[in-house]
Amino acid sequence: MSAVLKLQNESEEIISYNPATGAEFGRVANTSAEEVKAAVENSRTAFQTWRKTSFAERKRFVMKAREVILAEMDSIALLISNESGKPVAEALSMEIAPVLDLMQYFAKNSEKLLKPRKINIGLYATLGRSSKIVYQPLGVVGIIPAWNYPFSIPLGEAVMSLMSGNTVVLKPSELTPLIGLKIGEIFEKAGLPENVVQVVTGAGATGAALVESAPDKIMFTGSVATGKRIAEAAAKNLTSVVLELGGKDPMIVFADANLELAADAAVWGAFCNAGQSCSSVERLYVEESAAAELTRKIVEKTKKLKLGAGSEETTDIGAMSSEKQLKIVEDHVASFEKEGAQILTGGKHHDLFFEPTVISGANNSMRAMQEETFGPTLPIAVFRTEEEAIRLANDSEFGLTASVWTRDLSKGKRVAERIEAGTVCVNEVLYTHGIGQTPWGGFKNSGRGRTHGIEGLMELVQPQHIHVNKLAILPNAWWLPYGANAIETFKGFAKYFASGSLFQTSKLMPQLFKRIKELKKRSD
Ligand code: NAD
Repeated sequence: MSAVLKLQNESEEIISYNPATGAEFGRVANTSAEEVKAAVENSRTAFQTWRKTSFAERKRFVMKAREVILAEMDSIALLISNESGKPVAEALSMEIAPVLDLMQYFAKNSEKLLKPRKINIGLYATLGRSSKIVYQPLGVVGIIPAWNYPFSIPLGEAVMSLMSGNTVVLKPSELTPLIGLKIGEIFEKAGLPENVVQVVTGAGATGAALVESAPDKIMFTGSVATGKRIAEAAAKNLTSVVLELGGKDPMIVFADANLELAADAAVWGAFCNAGQSCSSVERLYVEESAAAELTRKIVEKTKKLKLGAGSEETTDIGAMSSEKQLKIVEDHVASFEKEGAQILTGGKHHDLFFEPTVISGANNSMRAMQEETFGPTLPIAVFRTEEEAIRLANDSEFGLTASVWTRDLSKGKRVAERIEAGTVCVNEVLYTHGIGQTPWGGFKNSGRGRTHGIEGLMELVQPQHIHVNKLAILPNAWWLPYGANAIETFKGFAKYFASGSLFQTSKLMPQLFKRIKELKKRSD
């Protein structure tokens, strides 16, 4: 059965499986370390030309790539579904539509977002100095994604890298390599110059080789354990990394919330993509007085969900992407039961189809309330006070996203700001990765750095400070040589100039002229 990676040794191909049927879906090369190194070198060469392209040229390529996707939308959605297991509906709503939006946004706005920025340098400006920041591309960006959003995550990161003047080497997940290759093909069809985007298929060893090839940035999405390994390996070359890691995202429902809507949100937030989203609802905390009603609504709605092959239009929940992931879900459900929680619906699987599972009587001391499940489970716990809800939500090594549900928006925002997570929604759930304009990333073990938004774009450039002296006639008072006059002047700098006040600084003028005169005399 299943999407189990069959890889005996380094030289073999990787076989991709359709998780819904267990049938072989395709074979790709298992790229060797030498080939990865060569790809990074080729990327570095391509960068020398690509970095000189204008924003308008980059925009043309990205907009052309959008057209390719739009023209092939149905077949791309089916490819995503067949290789990852998710319903075609989710391939469209959670991958293709959001990444198309991200593409147009960064194609049209990167120039503005990366516009050189003048800095107010205060009193230094009165000395004829000016400063501005220009944003230089980094070089080669290595993208190493997970398998759960195999199209939108790497494609979005590639587009942002390209728009900021970098070239890209992408190593897709070994579970979804054909989707990775499709991304390369889309750019090829868009006419992107050779080696500006390259795709190297392979498993962890190929990813490790990419890190060791010393690209200028690593954009990694995956588990905490791999993230730590990558950070360690990248440190050898001082390569900076963005780490998008796991989550155990809490949903807090107060009794005054619209419970019907909260129940719908919980069901979607926990079970879409078969629960395999880093921002899936993995813990639901409901105020005690609303617990029975909310739980009843959630169970009713969950029982109506239809499991099936992602390629069928009416499928709500597709197959899980791998047997390894399914085993974790099984283990967590069993451990919930063992520790005294109740399985209200679901809990079983056939092949890689795991039933959406609602669990009541959960609490934070249970192992599966702490470890990331990454599957279709929704454990429900209760709280009594606002303080307790915040404490329970923050009692986790993770901090990716969270949601707060209440009709009292000021309470919602107050609670949101006390949750330790990179994104907190009030009366919304899970979907903000789809808003390319907003930063995405985690607190605590959920990651380092950001993708998306201006913050994400800043990860892909290096700010360069250009400082100009428009009055380059006289030597500076702080230059060599030193002596009593210099010391007196520097004390004046500390007392007057460093106050930031023009009035105070005017007191320094006589001493400053004396010092400049002295320097001028020496240099004449
Ligand atoms: P994983 O860590 O097993 O693998 C991720 C990628 O890293 C794969 O491409 C893999 O081939 C590669 N890899 C493995 N070992 C490597 C090494 N030593 N050096 C370099 N690359 C290596 O994770 P996964 O199972 O693919 O993904 C699931 C995890 O991803 C979950 O924890 C989930 O929460 C997380 N995730 C996070 C986000 C986010 O935005 N924070 C988004 C999606 C998924």
